[in-house]
Amino acid sequence: MAIVVYAIVLSLLPVVALAGNLGDGLSQLTINNKPLAMSISLTAQDQDELKIIETGESDPPEQSYQEIFIQGTMPNDTTNLYVRFPGLTSRTSSWNQIRTLQKDNGRFWARFTMEQAGRSPINVRFVVRGKPLRDLIIYSVETVNETISEKGGGRVFSLDSLETMPSGLTLFLRSDWNAQQPKDDYAGNRPRRITLHHTAGKYSESLEESIEEMRFLQEFHQQARGWLDIGYHFIIDGKGRTFEGRPSGARGAHAAGHNTGNIGIALMGYYHEPINNRASVEQLESVARLIAWVSGAYSISPKTLKGHRDLNATACPGDTLYELLDPIRSRAAEIIPSPRRAKGLHFLFDRRPIKFP
Ligand SMILES: [Zn+2]
Repeated sequence: MAIVVYAIVLSLLPVVALAGNLGDGLSQLTINNKPLAMSISLTAQDQDELKIIETGESDPPEQSYQEIFIQGTMPNDTTNLYVRFPGLTSRTSSWNQIRTLQKDNGRFWARFTMEQAGRSPINVRFVVRGKPLRDLIIYSVETVNETISEKGGGRVFSLDSLETMPSGLTLFLRSDWNAQQPKDDYAGNRPRRITLHHTAGKYSESLEESIEEMRFLQEFHQQARGWLDIGYHFIIDGKGRTFEGRPSGARGAHAAGHNTGNIGIALMGYYHEPINNRASVEQLESVARLIAWVSGAYSISPKTLKGHRDLNATACPGDTLYELLDPIRSRAAEIIPSPRRAKGLHFLFDRRPIKFP
């Protein structure tokens, strides 16, 4: 799978002002895209009630792709999304409108499948009708070279885990965020390592918004990516609230080719250019406590913690989070439960397999 990821945060008001200069030729807004693969230049034009906002042409992805996923936030429910692939057939090199699934809070995702695979650059265009309610944000455009369908159906092991959670973590179960059921039985997972991610999505501090984001992420993972469930085992919001994703005894879908035995923990937000969210003190304490608990429960070392970019070609979990991996490992090691307790839990893990659901 080749991944091209970029983010644009664009307040529509400056863009409208920018568009006032269009008589002089095309105004361009260029955003620093380091360390991301896609070059971004934005142009905006005003046409009566329409605002047309385009990205520049991306670099060609390194690998051939046949599908793209886009997710972000759109200004209102009459915004339309188009993509173009200048290097492919004449049909796809003109604008193709893509169906978007948009929530009340503006979060949207879209998936587009082409007739044939290729390595064309990509252009993205938004046409905004009427009054913008919110900013336009593109969190990611990803190219995928094969349709992913996650295979499940194995035995899943469980610990009765959540009752053994350490104090200091505020945990929200799947029922608390009104999760959908997994699409099928999961494959089993025996945790032996941990990987840290960011969601490359909304940074949320309110419980209501975090629950909306959890539901958005699950829908995007199940319906766009074709996975059984949300890909991560745990997700932590800006206030350090911890949300249950998949059961730890189920194999995750968060690091292509490296999911076996791998617990995926994601911080809500976007931790590199151009958004540069910063992890809060509460978030960092929660992630350390969570890693301490997982380490104790499954007899693994916090030293196994990696960033997603150590495993796949991705900017995840972002520069501002990646540089905190060592402090997180150290803090987790300080609060890890005693080996004796961990051993008892390990025994439980071995002896009490259950099948989900
Ligand atoms: Zn990741």
